[in-house]
Amino acid sequence: MPALRHALRRAPAAWKSACNRQSWTSVRCFSGSPMTQANWGFVGLGQMGYPMAKNLRAKIPATDSITIYDINESATSQFVEEANSAGPGASVTIAKSLQDVSRSSDTVITMLPQPKHVQAVYEEFIAGGLDKSNPRLFIDCSTIDVKTSLEVGSSIRALGHDFVDAPVSGGVVGASAATLTFMLGASDSVVGKAQPILEKMGKRIIHMGNPGTGIVGKLANNYLLAMSNVATAEAMNFGIKLGLEPKTLASLINCSTGKCWPSETNNPVPGVVEGAPSSRGYQGGFGVSLMSKDLKLAIAAADLAGAKLILAEPARKLYEDAEAHADCKGKDFSVVYKYLQLADK
Ligand code: NAD
Repeated sequence: MPALRHALRRAPAAWKSACNRQSWTSVRCFSGSPMTQANWGFVGLGQMGYPMAKNLRAKIPATDSITIYDINESATSQFVEEANSAGPGASVTIAKSLQDVSRSSDTVITMLPQPKHVQAVYEEFIAGGLDKSNPRLFIDCSTIDVKTSLEVGSSIRALGHDFVDAPVSGGVVGASAATLTFMLGASDSVVGKAQPILEKMGKRIIHMGNPGTGIVGKLANNYLLAMSNVATAEAMNFGIKLGLEPKTLASLINCSTGKCWPSETNNPVPGVVEGAPSSRGYQGGFGVSLMSKDLKLAIAAADLAGAKLILAEPARKLYEDAEAHADCKGKDFSVVYKYLQLADK
């Protein structure tokens, strides 16, 4: 893909100047205890990052230390409180700044909402000065676009550090249970370093190939999920409107060729799958805004590759419209079924 190679070659000018700035203000010394074996950093303690960091802390030696940072201070203070009440374990420090995290850690994991957040956070890491004599490993687990991930990765590698993309599948449930699937984009020489770390937070680590390929895999999967969710909602909607009983229709689909994750596990029709978000007012699950974001990222990835997408545009509009609707906003992405019904009226 020539466009991808082109993206890799371009080192963003703003970042180069950030590296030269060498902002040494607000440096905080992390002396650590003499017993400290390894220093970990975790940035982004949201729905996914919080339980991931919790699992990481539970599985690293008690002599290690973990430095956490989130712009939401209640998340970091809650993390410390929970860690204290959990008893002995790796020490937890709340960093005063992002630069504290990158300077004090050997391994830094980031779990952030969007490309702009990942870009800004890594700009700060770089602006803080990353000592070449202590090569660090940066693992970005956020779902972002291919181009940003490649640019961030090449800026970090240019400074002598490792960067891998490792987006996840499995949602909040998988993050809490440490059963996530990681899609790892890393050069062969870095896989061995990243894998044992990711295994502390997940069950399956799939090495997709070189940097950037973890993101490509994640976006391809979520594109398919975005489509199968809409198709399931549409098929269930017209089937029910033509008189079929919802559970009977779902049973038929689930032992026939239409079977997919939305039909079987996350059926969008309330009452069909007990425990699915649709059966509890579409609460929890994978937010419609996150699916809307991922679909746009997948569209951008296909554009980079020059790959034609036929189904993307109407689905993009449907997710965007559902996200904007007062009755669907903030709900699980299967809420598109409800949106279709509202639109039918
Ligand atoms: P979230 O919004 O719950 O958490 C993101 C966290 O990042 C928040 O706590 C926020 O305060 C913090 N943050 C934002 N900007 C920051 C900055 N500059 N510095 C430090 N912290 C900052 O999001 P989430 O649901 O945890 O998702 C994180 C990523 O994982 C997203 O890219 C998402 O697409 C992906 N993902 C989410 C799910 C899911 O089910 N929620 C599943 C798979 C993948």
